[in-house]
Amino acid sequence: MLQRRLRVTGTVQGVGFRPYVWHLAQELNLSGWVRNDAAGVDVLVEGELERIEAFTRRLPREIPPLAQLRKIGWQDAPASGEFAGFGILQSAAGQADTMIGHDTAECPDCLAEMFDPTDRRWRHAFINCTHCGPRYTLTRKLPYDRAQTSMAAFALCPDCAREYRDPANRRFHAEPTACPACGPRLVLADAEGMPVRCEDPVAGALQRVQSGQIVAIKGLGGFHLACDARNADAVQRLRDRKQRDEKPFAVMSANLASIGDLVEISAAEADLLQSPERPIVLLRKKSAADIAFPGIAPGLAWLGVMLPYTPLHWLLFHEAAGQRSRCASALTNPASPLRGQPAGTAWMQQPQDLILVMTSANPGGEPLVIGNDEAVERLAGIADALLLHDRDIVVRCDDSVVRMNGSQVPQFIRRARGYTPRAIRLPRAGASVLALGGYLKNTLCVTRGDEAFVSQHIGGLDNPATCGMLIEVADHLLDILQVKPEAVAHDLHPDFFSTRHALQLADLWGVPAVAVQHHHAHIAAVAAEHGVSGPILGLALDGVGLGSGAVGGSAALRNRRTPCGCSDGTAWGGELLRVDGDEFTRLGHLSPIPLPGGDKAAKEPWRMAAAALHLLGRGGDIAQRFSDQPAAQQLHQLLERGLNSPLTSSLGRWFDALAGLLGAREVMAYEGQAAMLLEGLAEQADMVDALSDGYALHDDGRLDLLPLLARLADVSDPVFGAALFHATLAGALADWAESAARREGLTTVALGGGCFLNHIVSGDLTRRLAARGFTVLSACQVPPNDGGLSLGQAWVAMHQLS
Ligand SMILES: [Zn+2]
Ligand SMILES: [Zn+2]
Ligand SMILES: [Zn+2]
Repeated sequence: MLQRRLRVTGTVQGVGFRPYVWHLAQELNLSGWVRNDAAGVDVLVEGELERIEAFTRRLPREIPPLAQLRKIGWQDAPASGEFAGFGILQSAAGQADTMIGHDTAECPDCLAEMFDPTDRRWRHAFINCTHCGPRYTLTRKLPYDRAQTSMAAFALCPDCAREYRDPANRRFHAEPTACPACGPRLVLADAEGMPVRCEDPVAGALQRVQSGQIVAIKGLGGFHLACDARNADAVQRLRDRKQRDEKPFAVMSANLASIGDLVEISAAEADLLQSPERPIVLLRKKSAADIAFPGIAPGLAWLGVMLPYTPLHWLLFHEAAGQRSRCASALTNPASPLRGQPAGTAWMQQPQDLILVMTSANPGGEPLVIGNDEAVERLAGIADALLLHDRDIVVRCDDSVVRMNGSQVPQFIRRARGYTPRAIRLPRAGASVLALGGYLKNTLCVTRGDEAFVSQHIGGLDNPATCGMLIEVADHLLDILQVKPEAVAHDLHPDFFSTRHALQLADLWGVPAVAVQHHHAHIAAVAAEHGVSGPILGLALDGVGLGSGAVGGSAALRNRRTPCGCSDGTAWGGELLRVDGDEFTRLGHLSPIPLPGGDKAAKEPWRMAAAALHLLGRGGDIAQRFSDQPAAQQLHQLLERGLNSPLTSSLGRWFDALAGLLGAREVMAYEGQAAMLLEGLAEQADMVDALSDGYALHDDGRLDLLPLLARLADVSDPVFGAALFHATLAGALADWAESAARREGLTTVALGGGCFLNHIVSGDLTRRLAARGFTVLSACQVPPNDGGLSLGQAWVAMHQLS
């Protein structure tokens, strides 16, 4: 006989871990107890040695679906004989060393109950259990108990309380559990927030969507604006009201069967769409997509699709399915024969007509709307009606966006709901660091031991509300992780809000502030997630060229006010770096191209095309080629005299130049649009070989792409032009990286920066480098774009502190 005390850490709270331990202990006839504390799960078992060994062996093997183990440790002692059976004890407080789970889509058991007319949770919009439902977005702090969540306001009814206390029940300590008798309630409100009298808020909301209205729907981490994706007028109205001219919208479909005629879905993409994390997945459009969904993703080769992930989403589709089956007269549900809602879950596999546009309700690029009153106020003039409920959203958390990259590996474009706050495991433990990221697509990162917690997508820090969200998220993450940072990392750029806030916090806490160069951080992020510590070659390619600079905090840098500023007078963005922990060397960069008109040039590809013409000695063509641009006349002069034309090495601007030359786009409606359109064009082309003389490698490490643009400046077929550009660029980058790697004696190449979201370039380049014997590392756990900067900054700061 023996007593063993086990300590389990990881995502082990709120995921059914204690009942799992309880079942296992019962089965093995062990006595003792299990309890949650702030450090994870604490277990004490007593019994025969052989059974205790079996318990210890099986414990990590059969864990519940949402649990993620980090460590199990134990200590043995003589048996006390004081336990009659095995019990589940109250939570104990203490130092937090564990984590709240991420939000997950409804599990099959809950869906079966929800669509069983005899179940007490028939069509309950807040059904969940230990294996599914909200976590991160409704938890205020650890330990994860109902009292610490926004469900604290809802007292359990006797039936729910019985389930909650019964270790054999699927809802044992399911903190957000509820039922129609005790749970939150839905209400349909008009644009002024006044409740609308209707039999069923879901039916009322659906009816409005079907009649072409825009309905705001309260989700897990914020509101969506929804409309009928097949209704071109409604989609256009949504664009007008949201002031979003061309940026693509994502759609929600009941299942894959409903969307299979419109987009291509690989097996891996199907798995991703149906995963409990339920991200938006970018899928390749079929020709029917633009006819079925006019104006949803204009000009792009890809469409963002997600499947329902809350009971409320399912109810909207169920309601719509009911309309269909009412016509078909079959499958009528005895509980509400008039509405014809199908019973059971078979309908969920069948094609459904309803496809919803579901776009984040974040007017003006500000953070997501989460509160009911806030929704009425901020969505005034946008939403015709609101589908609300009285369960508070505690944490703003947008939908995640993922796409299979050119090597068929899922790659984040935006990492948020479903994935945050899951930890990224680092190769070794170090000091705790808070890293506040950059400027656009911002995230922050907190490290604890050998784990990095990258926040949900926060957004562009170009407005006070998003800056406020940065502070809010930092406070919340530090609070739930119970971490006191030993350093605060930030971008080199002195004018970013994230930099200023980092300096303030460092000052307040009396800890060092660590400035990290933007492109160094891009490569460090890739190194961190792949656990690489030694020197690597980094290819950092991005579009915006923000906050670069060779040395930190120089006077020249401080004096610049534009986001393109950097200390050597050029904005970076096409960089070849040698990165070794907290050190980097700039081995090379793209030949600079002027930005005529400064920041404006980053938004107007025709200006970059003009810059390319100027470099080609064809400045005289500018006025005539861009005759509908009023500024075209002076631009030649500006370039000739070098006025207001700072230089940049950013690859993104070369894409823009090409888009302008090919006539694909003269002015962008949103950041990155030109490159996305070119990618869409290139996708339509047959195989094109790289132009072997389309680029030049210089002895000083520069890669010059001008010969390629010389060849493309007069190409009349944009599809061919885009394809030739992509193929030649991939070939050029591969040669460039190879020559530098050979010189430096490096065999690993890390790819970082937003340009690697380009499917064709990332896939082609990876294949070429791999074929030459290099190990190629890409961003997988965080986006390659600026959403991953905070992880890289944290990694550099950890190196510096050690
Ligand atoms: Zn469930
Ligand atoms: Zn209840
Ligand atoms: Zn960047």
